[in-house]
Amino acid sequence: MSVIYDPAELRADLHEMPELAMREVRTAAYAAEKLEALGLKVERGVGGTTGVTAVIEGAEPGPVVMLRADMDALPFVIDGKDCAIHACGHDAHTAMLLAAASRLVGKVKRGKLKLVLQPAEETCAGANALIAAGILEDVDYVLGAHIRPIQDLPAGKVCSGVRHTASTTIRVTVKGRGAHAARPHLGVNAIDAGGAIVAAVQGIWLNPTGVWSAKATQFHADAGGTNIVPDRATITFDVRAQTNELMNEYMEKIRTAVEYAAKAHGAEADLEILLTCPAAVYDEDFKAEVGDAIREVLGDDALAADCGGGGEDFHCYKLAKPSMKAAYFGVGVGATPGLHAPNMTFDPKYLINGVKVFEAVVLKHLG
Ligand SMILES: [Zn+2]
Ligand SMILES: [Zn+2]
Repeated sequence: MSVIYDPAELRADLHEMPELAMREVRTAAYAAEKLEALGLKVERGVGGTTGVTAVIEGAEPGPVVMLRADMDALPFVIDGKDCAIHACGHDAHTAMLLAAASRLVGKVKRGKLKLVLQPAEETCAGANALIAAGILEDVDYVLGAHIRPIQDLPAGKVCSGVRHTASTTIRVTVKGRGAHAARPHLGVNAIDAGGAIVAAVQGIWLNPTGVWSAKATQFHADAGGTNIVPDRATITFDVRAQTNELMNEYMEKIRTAVEYAAKAHGAEADLEILLTCPAAVYDEDFKAEVGDAIREVLGDDALAADCGGGGEDFHCYKLAKPSMKAAYFGVGVGATPGLHAPNMTFDPKYLINGVKVFEAVVLKHLG
């Protein structure tokens, strides 16, 4: 008698062991044990990370389908204490993948199903670490999913495409020259140059038919005294763009704006990319298959229009192997008040919808 996992039950277990990016030790062990209990051969510590993979092989030749879920929680400071909370629902994603695996054991007739539990989505490091470990070598299709906040999808609805934007976080270090505040002309005020940099970046225009934005999210400068012109400032920008092309154009213009705004004040500025995550690029035929699967297993009314927003390191997979078909669907679970809120809650009874979609898409290719 084969075991069928209930995603709501698995998620309840996983919710109690939130771990930050690249430190998902208990979560990975839990997932590996659940996969082994299904009789699957499991690889732990993939690429030197906490990543876990398992395969279900069919007897006949066929394509390789990869299902991917992320495992990491988010860092918060609550009542002055550092803590990790599953505020993005990655516990739900791990639970949905494990539950799908339990329903697919014995049903894969051809090709290969690759189950991938990825670390560190939130830091945009996990997918690239697994790619470097060669995880995509034989993969023809890659499919992922995310629970959606109530603003994106009502509970019970599922969309076949989440239109993630490209996101890049940059740190600008402004180097001026310190001086006595009574003799500002002998120095170069890093705050003045930094302010000019922020204004210059805000003055950049891209095609308004696209979606893009750059926000200064941190600005630090303090020479230690109120009567000292500071020689150094750091500014962090959060940059988003709908497509990878738009992001490339944006970054080029930002580099120019930063360099010349600093120079105009006699300062220098270094620009460092802290994190970058590509935009969603989907294969429309594979995405349409996901839409068909949603209608087939959940009914016509369950299929919602694409939703958007946010970033996802899932899209690093497609960027690394463009010949592979990629799709990523959204699961409406009534998540409120929104993802990344420390008090984010949702109704786990809807997770079964994501499990059924995973199962149907896999069986279309491998059943
Ligand atoms: Zn997140
Ligand atoms: Zn997430």
